[in-house]
Amino acid sequence: SLPIVAIVGRPNVGKSTLFNRIIKSRVAIVEDEAGVTRDRIYAKAEWMGHEFILIDTGGITLESGEIEEQIKAQAEIAIDEADVIVLLGDVTSHMTNMDETIAKMLYRTKKPVILAVNKADNPEQRTDIYDFYSLGFGDPIPVSGSHGTGIGDLLDAVVGEF
Ligand code: GDP
Ligand code: MG
Repeated sequence: SLPIVAIVGRPNVGKSTLFNRIIKSRVAIVEDEAGVTRDRIYAKAEWMGHEFILIDTGGITLESGEIEEQIKAQAEIAIDEADVIVLLGDVTSHMTNMDETIAKMLYRTKKPVILAVNKADNPEQRTDIYDFYSLGFGDPIPVSGSHGTGIGDLLDAVVGEF
């Protein structure tokens, strides 16, 4: 079976934009579990000859629950199912408590966590990403899901963990 890569991060950091940028063809996998809807969040992707399944955990929603609970459920699924986790931040809104909450959950897994910081659309923003170093997952990788920059560096790091 193919390795699974999950993108986690608080709402609006650009998970879905990055997901759409990385995937080349959508695979319709819809799986329903008690109270969890999973729709159009799994797709097959490929980088440098390595195939993998990419999950946009932002698309996993509980039938009810506060935003914090939703994000915790998303991180749990990443921890349970992924082989590599991409924690995504947003340089334009800097670091938030929610980023720290997700990071703390990810400390509990021994699975590789790669830190990427999105919306680094220009060179000045690429220096601001170092604030995220304090999350404890090493050097953040600057990416721009809208512009498509930095995605290759991120995917090199991801497939390097397979
Ligand atoms: P999600 O909630 O994490 O899935 O985030 P979305 O992918 O829906 O993106 C949230 C918003 O951020 C949208 O308005 C996107 O157009 C915007 N966005 C996503 N990626 C980038 C980026 O690289 N740069 C900029 N400037 N905006 C982005
Ligand atoms: Mg989304």
